[in-house]
Amino acid sequence: MSQQPPKVLVQGLSKRYGEIDALQATDLSIETGEFLTLLGPSGSGKTTLLQMVCGLVPPSAGRVIIDGQDHTATPVHRRDIGLVFQHYALFPHLTVAENIAFPLEMRRLKTSLVKDKVAQALDLVRLAHLGARFPRELSGGQQQRVALARCFVYQPSVILMDEPLGALDRKLREHLQVEIKQLHRKTGATIIYVTHDQEEALAMSDRICLMNQARVEQVAAPRDIYMRPATAFAAEFIGTSNIFRGHISRENGEPILISAGHAFKVADVSQGEGAAAALVIRPEAVSLGNRGENSVSGRVIETIFGGADVRVLVETASLGVVSCRLTATADAPSIGDTVSVSWPKSVGVVVKP
Ligand code: ADP
Ligand code: MG
Repeated sequence: MSQQPPKVLVQGLSKRYGEIDALQATDLSIETGEFLTLLGPSGSGKTTLLQMVCGLVPPSAGRVIIDGQDHTATPVHRRDIGLVFQHYALFPHLTVAENIAFPLEMRRLKTSLVKDKVAQALDLVRLAHLGARFPRELSGGQQQRVALARCFVYQPSVILMDEPLGALDRKLREHLQVEIKQLHRKTGATIIYVTHDQEEALAMSDRICLMNQARVEQVAAPRDIYMRPATAFAAEFIGTSNIFRGHISRENGEPILISAGHAFKVADVSQGEGAAAALVIRPEAVSLGNRGENSVSGRVIETIFGGADVRVLVETASLGVVSCRLTATADAPSIGDTVSVSWPKSVGVVVKP
């Protein structure tokens, strides 16, 4: 079987600025055509990693390999990489069409070919009617679509995007998320996308590389990172979670997690007896009433209507507030009610604390 090398391979890549580790030694492999998102809080090293992949920042150590070739020392304009940033960086004195033509003219394409490609790119981002306008005559969302067209037009095989929707309002962001996904599908480009927005990462990515404090916390497909977070940080950063910290023990031969005096049944664990661990339970896996293998009682302190669902916050004596998500059609309890919350052991995920 012939094995294709990864499109982008990052090996032991790190960056120090004086005393600051902007990125600790990182290994990462991105397949051809993949949409990989670097997700993490501000300052976790996302931009630093992206800038080393494209060649804007020289690494302190490590290698960047593209299509099996070492490009660590290749200057940015000699790598087959397109870039889109949060701020559109369009040329204000050029029209939309001229902006999109610019990278093609830089590459000395024939005038007739440039015209065709610009028309195609304008179609791709659905701005065919606005080619003659200047950037200042466009909305923020339209300007960012021009920036996308200007990137996709010369068909780089790798595209890096650093918070490209960060300056847009929520509705427009959701709209452009779908457009970028469709551009990805139509063009087959390999995309490395940066965001600090976990919903955006879940919605758009083939895989998410979750970053925390200058290193990779977990790399997994959206569903896997949500269902099987590896650490308490991953569980807290992606979606909402109930997290009970404690340690692993055994009761009648079965694994349990002891937390604040409670003994919760858990499914198979890799951690040995006595190991510090945290139990993650998603709010949608918690039900009201004493029905599961694990149950805690408390008092309802808040109910939050969310359209499709209702979140019920239950204050417990020893575990803090437990969050429970019901469908909007379920009977929600009233504030002040004493209730039990419960969950089967199968829904709990035991992670590193
Ligand atoms: P993110 O994009 O995840 O917000 P960055 O990669 O921009 O994070 O930054 C990671 C860390 O490196 C931060 O602590 C940041 O302050 C530091 N850093 C980034 N660029 C520089 C620089 N040019 N000089 C000094 N420190 C930097
Ligand atoms: Mg950044």
